[in-house]
Amino acid sequence: MLADYHIHTLLCRHARGNPEDYVKTALERDIAEIGFSDHSPYPAGHDPRFRMDPSEFPLYKKTVLSLRAKFAKPAIKFGIEIDWIPGGMDKAFSMLKDEPFDYFTGSIHYTDEFPFDNPEVEREWRKNGVADKVWRRYISLMKDMVSSGRFNIIGHFDLPKKFGYYPDSMDEINNSISEICKIAASNGTAIEINTSGLRRPVGEIYPSLSILKTAFKEGASITFGSDAHSPCEVGADFSKALALAKQAGYSEYCVFTEKKPLKIPLPI
Ligand SMILES: [Zn+2]
Ligand SMILES: [Zn+2]
Repeated sequence: MLADYHIHTLLCRHARGNPEDYVKTALERDIAEIGFSDHSPYPAGHDPRFRMDPSEFPLYKKTVLSLRAKFAKPAIKFGIEIDWIPGGMDKAFSMLKDEPFDYFTGSIHYTDEFPFDNPEVEREWRKNGVADKVWRRYISLMKDMVSSGRFNIIGHFDLPKKFGYYPDSMDEINNSISEICKIAASNGTAIEINTSGLRRPVGEIYPSLSILKTAFKEGASITFGSDAHSPCEVGADFSKALALAKQAGYSEYCVFTEKKPLKIPLPI
Protein backbone atom coordinates (compact mmCIF):
# COMPACT_ATOMS: atom_id res chain seq x y z
CA MET A 1 0.00 0.00 0.00
CA LEU A 2 0.97 3.63 -0.60
CA ALA A 3 4.15 5.17 -1.96
CA ASP A 4 6.85 6.75 0.20
CA TYR A 5 8.30 9.59 -1.87
CA HIS A 6 10.51 11.25 0.73
CA ILE A 7 13.61 9.21 1.46
CA HIS A 8 17.16 10.44 2.05
CA THR A 9 20.56 8.78 1.73
CA LEU A 10 23.88 8.97 3.52
CA LEU A 11 25.05 11.52 0.97
CA CYS A 12 23.17 14.31 2.75
CA ARG A 13 25.49 13.89 5.78
CA HIS A 14 22.65 13.67 8.30
CA ALA A 15 21.07 10.33 7.35
CA ARG A 16 22.07 6.81 8.35
CA GLY A 17 22.04 3.35 6.81
CA ASN A 18 22.65 1.61 3.54
CA PRO A 19 20.25 2.62 0.72
CA GLU A 20 19.44 -1.06 0.17
CA ASP A 21 18.13 -1.29 3.73
CA TYR A 22 15.59 1.45 2.95
CA VAL A 23 14.29 -0.73 0.12
CA LYS A 24 14.12 -3.78 2.40
CA THR A 25 12.09 -1.90 5.01
CA ALA A 26 9.69 -0.82 2.27
CA LEU A 27 9.21 -4.46 1.29
CA GLU A 28 8.62 -5.52 4.89
CA ARG A 29 6.06 -2.73 5.34
CA ASP A 30 4.24 -3.46 2.10
CA ILE A 31 5.09 -0.08 0.55
CA ALA A 32 4.28 -0.29 -3.17
CA GLU A 33 6.73 2.38 -4.33
CA ILE A 34 9.56 4.32 -2.82
CA GLY A 35 11.14 7.48 -4.12
CA PHE A 36 14.54 8.72 -3.10
CA SER A 37 14.50 12.49 -2.69
CA ASP A 38 17.81 13.46 -1.22
CA HIS A 39 18.71 17.12 -0.65
CA SER A 40 19.76 18.73 -3.93
CA PRO A 41 23.36 19.94 -4.23
CA TYR A 42 21.99 22.88 -6.25
CA PRO A 43 21.95 25.85 -5.86
CA ALA A 44 25.62 24.91 -5.43
CA GLY A 45 27.31 26.01 -2.24
CA HIS A 46 24.12 26.61 -0.29
CA ASP A 47 24.59 25.29 3.28
CA PRO A 48 26.91 22.43 2.26
CA ARG A 49 26.72 20.85 5.75
CA PHE A 50 23.38 19.29 4.90
CA ARG A 51 23.60 18.06 1.34
CA MET A 52 25.72 16.13 -1.12
CA ASP A 53 28.44 17.99 -2.94
CA PRO A 54 27.71 18.55 -6.67
CA SER A 55 30.57 16.12 -7.38
CA GLU A 56 28.59 13.41 -5.53
CA PHE A 57 25.47 13.77 -7.65
CA PRO A 58 26.54 11.06 -10.17
CA LEU A 59 26.94 8.65 -7.23
CA TYR A 60 23.44 9.52 -5.99
CA LYS A 61 21.97 8.85 -9.42
CA LYS A 62 23.88 5.60 -9.79
CA THR A 63 22.79 4.42 -6.34
CA VAL A 64 19.09 4.95 -7.05
CA LEU A 65 19.14 3.62 -10.61
CA SER A 66 21.08 0.50 -9.65
CA LEU A 67 18.65 -0.24 -6.81
CA ARG A 68 15.86 0.06 -9.34
CA ALA A 69 17.62 -2.44 -11.60
CA LYS A 70 18.21 -4.83 -8.71
CA PHE A 71 14.75 -4.92 -7.11
CA ALA A 72 11.61 -5.87 -9.00
CA LYS A 73 9.57 -4.67 -6.04
CA PRO A 74 8.93 -2.06 -4.74
CA ALA A 75 8.98 0.33 -7.69
CA ILE A 76 11.88 2.73 -7.09
CA LYS A 77 11.57 6.33 -8.19
CA PHE A 78 14.32 8.88 -8.68
CA GLY A 79 13.46 12.19 -7.07
CA ILE A 80 15.20 15.08 -5.40
CA GLU A 81 14.28 17.58 -2.68
CA ILE A 82 15.21 21.04 -3.91
CA ASP A 83 15.46 24.06 -1.64
CA TRP A 84 13.72 27.14 -2.94
CA ILE A 85 16.45 29.79 -2.73
CA PRO A 86 15.46 33.08 -4.41
CA GLY A 87 17.97 34.06 -7.05
CA GLY A 88 19.52 30.62 -7.29
CA MET A 89 16.82 28.61 -8.99
CA ASP A 90 17.46 29.16 -12.70
CA LYS A 91 20.97 27.85 -12.29
CA ALA A 92 19.82 24.98 -10.06
CA PHE A 93 17.23 23.83 -12.57
CA SER A 94 19.64 24.15 -15.45
CA MET A 95 21.93 21.67 -13.67
CA LEU A 96 19.10 19.20 -13.04
CA LYS A 97 16.91 19.49 -16.12
CA ASP A 98 18.48 16.71 -18.20
CA GLU A 99 18.56 14.12 -15.43
CA PRO A 100 16.06 11.23 -15.48
CA PHE A 101 14.01 12.38 -12.49
CA ASP A 102 10.54 11.08 -11.74
CA TYR A 103 9.71 14.10 -9.62
CA PHE A 104 10.99 17.30 -8.07
CA THR A 105 9.99 18.01 -4.49
CA GLY A 106 10.20 21.68 -3.59
CA SER A 107 10.93 22.50 0.03
CA ILE A 108 11.75 25.54 2.11
CA HIS A 109 14.12 25.06 5.05
CA TYR A 110 15.51 28.61 5.09
CA THR A 111 13.78 31.95 5.38
CA ASP A 112 16.54 33.89 3.71
CA GLU A 113 19.61 32.73 5.63
CA PHE A 114 17.72 31.56 8.73
CA PRO A 115 17.66 27.72 8.90
CA PHE A 116 14.42 27.83 10.85
CA ASP A 117 13.90 24.07 11.18
CA ASN A 118 17.40 23.33 12.45
CA PRO A 119 17.32 22.34 16.15
CA GLU A 120 20.43 24.51 16.65
CA VAL A 121 18.29 27.64 16.17
CA GLU A 122 15.27 26.58 18.20
CA ARG A 123 16.00 29.16 20.92
CA GLU A 124 15.77 31.94 18.31
CA TRP A 125 12.11 31.06 17.89
CA ARG A 126 11.41 32.16 21.48
CA LYS A 127 12.45 35.75 20.75
CA ASN A 128 9.78 38.35 20.32
CA GLY A 129 8.38 38.61 16.81
CA VAL A 130 10.42 35.75 15.33
CA ALA A 131 7.50 33.35 14.84
CA ASP A 132 5.51 36.05 13.07
CA LYS A 133 8.41 37.04 10.83
CA VAL A 134 9.44 33.48 9.92
CA TRP A 135 5.93 32.25 9.13
CA ARG A 136 5.18 35.30 6.96
CA ARG A 137 8.40 35.02 5.01
CA TYR A 138 7.98 31.25 4.68
CA ILE A 139 4.50 31.54 3.23
CA SER A 140 5.57 34.25 0.81
CA LEU A 141 8.47 32.05 -0.40
CA MET A 142 6.09 29.10 -0.64
CA LYS A 143 3.74 31.09 -2.83
CA ASP A 144 6.60 31.97 -5.20
CA MET A 145 7.82 28.38 -5.21
CA VAL A 146 4.44 26.86 -6.03
CA SER A 147 3.61 29.59 -8.56
CA SER A 148 6.81 28.76 -10.44
CA GLY A 149 5.16 25.51 -11.56
CA ARG A 150 8.57 23.84 -11.54
CA PHE A 151 7.81 21.23 -8.88
CA ASN A 152 5.73 18.09 -8.77
CA ILE A 153 5.43 17.96 -4.99
CA ILE A 154 5.44 20.47 -2.12
CA GLY A 155 7.47 19.05 0.78
CA HIS A 156 6.27 19.35 4.40
CA PHE A 157 3.86 22.22 3.71
CA ASP A 158 3.72 23.74 7.21
CA LEU A 159 7.28 23.03 8.35
CA PRO A 160 7.61 26.20 10.50
CA LYS A 161 5.36 24.50 13.08
CA LYS A 162 8.16 21.99 13.79
CA PHE A 163 8.99 23.31 17.29
CA GLY A 164 5.41 24.37 18.03
CA TYR A 165 5.74 28.14 17.51
CA TYR A 166 3.02 30.09 15.71
CA PRO A 167 2.29 33.79 15.13
CA ASP A 168 -0.33 35.45 17.36
CA SER A 169 -2.75 35.36 14.46
CA MET A 170 -2.73 32.82 11.66
CA ASP A 171 -5.54 34.56 9.74
CA GLU A 172 -3.40 36.19 7.08
CA ILE A 173 -1.27 33.07 6.73
CA ASN A 174 -4.32 30.87 6.37
CA ASN A 175 -5.58 33.11 3.57
CA SER A 176 -2.28 32.70 1.76
CA ILE A 177 -2.42 28.93 2.33
CA SER A 178 -5.79 28.81 0.54
CA GLU A 179 -4.32 30.75 -2.37
CA ILE A 180 -1.30 28.44 -2.52
CA CYS A 181 -3.55 25.36 -2.57
CA LYS A 182 -5.52 26.89 -5.41
CA ILE A 183 -2.32 27.54 -7.40
CA ALA A 184 -1.08 24.00 -6.65
CA ALA A 185 -4.34 22.55 -7.94
CA SER A 186 -4.19 24.63 -11.10
CA ASN A 187 -0.60 23.78 -12.01
CA GLY A 188 -0.60 20.16 -10.83
CA THR A 189 1.71 20.46 -7.81
CA ALA A 190 0.85 17.74 -5.30
CA ILE A 191 0.92 18.31 -1.55
CA GLU A 192 2.99 15.86 0.45
CA ILE A 193 1.58 14.30 3.59
CA ASN A 194 4.82 14.02 5.56
CA THR A 195 4.84 11.93 8.73
CA SER A 196 8.14 13.23 10.10
CA GLY A 197 6.31 15.93 12.08
CA LEU A 198 5.08 13.15 14.37
CA ARG A 199 8.72 12.56 15.33
CA ARG A 200 9.34 16.27 16.06
CA PRO A 201 8.36 18.48 19.03
CA VAL A 202 5.09 19.53 17.33
CA GLY A 203 3.99 15.86 17.22
CA GLU A 204 1.80 16.43 14.15
CA ILE A 205 1.85 15.36 10.51
CA TYR A 206 2.75 18.05 7.93
CA PRO A 207 0.39 19.52 6.86
CA SER A 208 -2.32 19.90 9.48
CA LEU A 209 -5.78 18.47 8.88
CA SER A 210 -7.14 21.95 8.32
CA ILE A 211 -4.62 22.68 5.54
CA LEU A 212 -5.30 19.30 4.00
CA LYS A 213 -9.03 20.00 4.00
CA THR A 214 -8.32 23.28 2.20
CA ALA A 215 -6.10 21.44 -0.30
CA PHE A 216 -8.87 18.93 -0.96
CA LYS A 217 -11.49 21.64 -1.36
CA GLU A 218 -9.28 23.47 -3.87
CA GLY A 219 -8.60 20.27 -5.83
CA ALA A 220 -4.89 19.72 -5.12
CA SER A 221 -3.59 16.15 -5.21
CA ILE A 222 -1.48 14.44 -2.54
CA THR A 223 1.57 12.22 -2.11
CA PHE A 224 2.98 10.54 0.98
CA GLY A 225 6.44 10.78 2.51
CA SER A 226 8.13 9.62 5.70
CA ASP A 227 11.17 11.92 5.32
CA ALA A 228 13.22 8.86 6.30
CA HIS A 229 16.80 9.65 7.31
CA SER A 230 17.27 6.06 8.51
CA PRO A 231 15.99 2.74 7.11
CA CYS A 232 13.62 2.13 10.04
CA GLU A 233 11.72 5.32 9.17
CA VAL A 234 10.53 4.19 5.73
CA GLY A 235 6.73 4.18 5.71
CA ALA A 236 6.69 5.38 9.34
CA ASP A 237 3.17 6.16 10.59
CA PHE A 238 1.64 5.71 7.15
CA SER A 239 -1.57 4.35 8.66
CA LYS A 240 -1.98 7.72 10.42
CA ALA A 241 -1.19 9.57 7.18
CA LEU A 242 -3.76 7.49 5.32
CA ALA A 243 -6.39 8.18 7.96
CA LEU A 244 -5.64 11.92 7.78
CA ALA A 245 -5.96 11.94 3.99
CA LYS A 246 -9.35 10.24 4.20
CA GLN A 247 -10.49 12.56 6.96
CA ALA A 248 -9.68 15.51 4.70
CA GLY A 249 -11.85 13.97 1.96
CA TYR A 250 -9.28 12.29 -0.28
CA SER A 251 -9.93 8.98 -2.01
CA GLU A 252 -6.88 9.05 -4.33
CA TYR A 253 -3.20 9.88 -4.19
CA CYS A 254 -0.63 10.58 -6.83
CA VAL A 255 2.48 8.79 -8.08
CA PHE A 256 4.93 10.17 -10.64
CA THR A 257 6.88 8.54 -13.46
CA GLU A 258 9.19 10.83 -15.40
CA LYS A 259 7.22 13.75 -13.93
CA LYS A 260 3.90 12.41 -15.18
CA PRO A 261 1.26 12.07 -12.48
CA LEU A 262 -1.00 9.07 -12.08
CA LYS A 263 -3.87 8.92 -9.59
CA ILE A 264 -4.20 5.76 -7.51
CA PRO A 265 -7.12 4.92 -5.21
CA LEU A 266 -6.23 5.08 -1.53
CA PRO A 267 -6.15 1.64 0.09
CA ILE A 268 -9.10 0.71 2.29
ZN1 LIG B 1 17.32 15.95 5.59
ZN1 LIG C 1 12.87 18.62 3.97
